[in-house]
Amino acid sequence: MSEDRRREVAANLAAVRSRIAAACAAAGRDPGGVTLVAVTKTFPAADVRLLVELGVRDIGENRDQEFRPKVDACADLEVTWHFVGQLQRNKARSVASYVDVVHSVDRSALVDALSRGAVAAGRELVCLVEVALDHEPGRGGVPPGEAAAVADAVAAADGLRLGGVMAVAPLGTDPAVAFAQLARIADAVRARHPDASMISAGMSGDLEAAITHGATHVRVGTALLGGRPPVLR
Ligand SMILES: *Cc1c(COP(=O)(O)O)cnc(C)c1O
Repeated sequence: MSEDRRREVAANLAAVRSRIAAACAAAGRDPGGVTLVAVTKTFPAADVRLLVELGVRDIGENRDQEFRPKVDACADLEVTWHFVGQLQRNKARSVASYVDVVHSVDRSALVDALSRGAVAAGRELVCLVEVALDHEPGRGGVPPGEAAAVADAVAAADGLRLGGVMAVAPLGTDPAVAFAQLARIADAVRARHPDASMISAGMSGDLEAAITHGATHVRVGTALLGGRPPVLR
């Protein structure tokens, strides 16, 4: 690990932490109520190690193929691992074997697959219901009206614990409006499942709006590690 990279990431982390603190102060919230999940996709395991050395305890990734080797490479570290991307059913068993929190549960077929994987691995997975706040097909998330049903399915499934809800603000809209809607959905889920208190919302560009509207987990990549090359699939 070069000293330059260490200095760069340390400075980025300090800047993100102060943004979180300022947003919490403005909202009258305790900064201890907001967990920073560092999203390390496309960056090497050495950057995960560096973030952990700098005090980050929560790491997120969005693809099983990339995530699993990084978890193996960092097996000696105390980390809570978060899966934040769209999850295919045929990857659920693999993901359930090493991840701690899945932010992107958006259909009952996935609930069943994750449940079977968690039970087979003898683990408990915290699951968040991803809500689609726009109406673009193909992007992840359940329509707002179906969030409660998927939440009920998670809560009833062996090996899974309902953590709460997650969303990505739709492109080209005011994130504050989207996160206010997510907060109402989170309230409705919590009315049925009082322990489901997690709200995963906010990324590099909109974490302040998310914190204003109650985010307990912000998922930050670019502001910590720099720009990613475009993804080719
Ligand atoms: C990549 C990613 C992030 C981080 O986005 P940045 O804009 O780089 O902070 C957050 N959430 C999800 C679901 C992601 O895929």
